[in-house]
Amino acid sequence: MKIKEVNLMKPIVEQWPLMLAYIVLIGWISVTKNPIPRWMLIFLHAYLLVSVVTLCKSRIVKALAYIIIYILFTTEIVLEWIFGMNISPNVITLFVETNARESKEFLESMLDKPRLWQVPLCVAGMIVLNIIAEKSRLRVNQWCKGPKTTKILKSIAVILLVGGIIFSYNYIKLFQCEEMNQVDEWRSHQRNPDDLVTKVVVSFYDMSIAEKEMSRVIRLAEQIEVLPQDTNDDSLNVIVVIGESYIREHAAIYGYPLQTTPFLSHEQQEGRLFVFTDMVSPYNQTTRVIRNLLSCNSLGHHEDWSSAPPFTAVYKKNGFHVAMYDNQKNFDMGFVFAYSLNTYLYHPQIMKACYHETNDSTFEFDGQLVEYYKRKEGRREGEKESGKRLVLFHLLGQHVGFDYRYPKDFAYYDEDSLSFRQESWLTEDMREDIVHYDNATRYNDYVLQQIINLYAHESTIVVYLSDHGEEVYDYRENLGRDDWNMGSDPRQVLRWQYMVPFVVWCSDKYAATHPEHITQLREATSRRAMLDNVCQLLFHLSGLRTPYYHQDRDVLSSGYSYPKRIINETIDADSLLNNLLE
Ligand SMILES: [Zn+2]
Repeated sequence: MKIKEVNLMKPIVEQWPLMLAYIVLIGWISVTKNPIPRWMLIFLHAYLLVSVVTLCKSRIVKALAYIIIYILFTTEIVLEWIFGMNISPNVITLFVETNARESKEFLESMLDKPRLWQVPLCVAGMIVLNIIAEKSRLRVNQWCKGPKTTKILKSIAVILLVGGIIFSYNYIKLFQCEEMNQVDEWRSHQRNPDDLVTKVVVSFYDMSIAEKEMSRVIRLAEQIEVLPQDTNDDSLNVIVVIGESYIREHAAIYGYPLQTTPFLSHEQQEGRLFVFTDMVSPYNQTTRVIRNLLSCNSLGHHEDWSSAPPFTAVYKKNGFHVAMYDNQKNFDMGFVFAYSLNTYLYHPQIMKACYHETNDSTFEFDGQLVEYYKRKEGRREGEKESGKRLVLFHLLGQHVGFDYRYPKDFAYYDEDSLSFRQESWLTEDMREDIVHYDNATRYNDYVLQQIINLYAHESTIVVYLSDHGEEVYDYRENLGRDDWNMGSDPRQVLRWQYMVPFVVWCSDKYAATHPEHITQLREATSRRAMLDNVCQLLFHLSGLRTPYYHQDRDVLSSGYSYPKRIINETIDADSLLNNLLE
């Protein structure tokens, strides 16, 4: 019995500095909330680690343990302090999806952050404390071996370990989750552990679920159901432009004081452009939005993005020539994780089921992508033109790094243009960012003009939307987007980051042959809608008969009954908006 008692305490007593380092550096972030179960779990994890190190009796194993602890700790504080993010599937995906250009811009933006210097300082401080602890390890060992101390320490350790084992039940519940939404829900409960190691485990588990969802989508895309068509349209161009980080309120067509949308404003006056005023994005993260945008699912009907095929597959199967031109396409690492957007868009089987052609280069500026599309069009001139086509453009738009998003001859605005911004907290640097953003927005208007001009004289509809909004010092000292929890003022966050621009443009030829659609568009612009059901509007305007069409989800239909607009899986956008209007 005596021997067993000594064994239980041996790893703690001998490797206490390592155990302490694990508890502080890996667990610190989680134990401030709901401390009892989380403390017990962290203690159990740390105990398991020091037991392994004690059993191995190897300095290499111990060094490895320290290295992993410090890598995780440093990663977390860089993410948390500098970017306001945490270790999550999104962040891992971001690392995987980021290409060389983005890495350069990312590092440059990091050097600008005022808190950057605190990171090496904090890590170095921890290492110094850790070395001091290791140096005094043996002295403390001796003290711990006193009979009274052993007894007290053992009682505490037993309580914490038993608690830790009991609360490990939470992990069983995690591994019972079968959908990403369930994992999100698991993560939102504070009784569940949230230390750095758990975050990594949850992230990878989440990504493994994504893998399963991906195979489901592929199956659905390959088995599109087709109905006989009764439309007389033998030629039609449907163009969908997916913008990036476009803050609605920086567009003149949505009331911005600067004329950032000269082309769109003109088209609106001419009656060819319909500006929707109440469109919400279900997320503020590109990948999640685009999956739900392309999929024929409806979030308000509790349909996950992987429960329906992408509408590109529906169009292809119904005889449309489908082209996907994506300036965010990543050629280096597209197929690493099912969690990544590139895998959803460019998995080999998805490519086959959804598109006839995709771009094989990306460009510094979006206008160059449109030029490139035109050149490819030219090469096809000899071929018989396909009567019906669906073209998707995915732009870099106003992605962060605003000064990189427009050619310098599009620098229409400078700091003098911002005289309508009188807030005393706005610094020179902030004003500079806003100016870059507005110039990028004005360039975006030009890119849209290029896209609309492609088939302006044919029967054509163009839908432009942004995946989500952004913040560029609009009402507070903040640049970028909040994470999942929507920050301290969710109503403002909703307004700037989730309310998105959404416009439909119809050519004169289309308007002449579809007057009923023009009336319906005019009547629908102020209706509430969310981006996940955009495919319903496209089916309607394309006159496409398909089992994936649902009248009640179609904002243009008289039978439209808009579903609950739930953002980030849990927040009712309309209850927030109603408060905003009061
Ligand atoms: Zn985005």
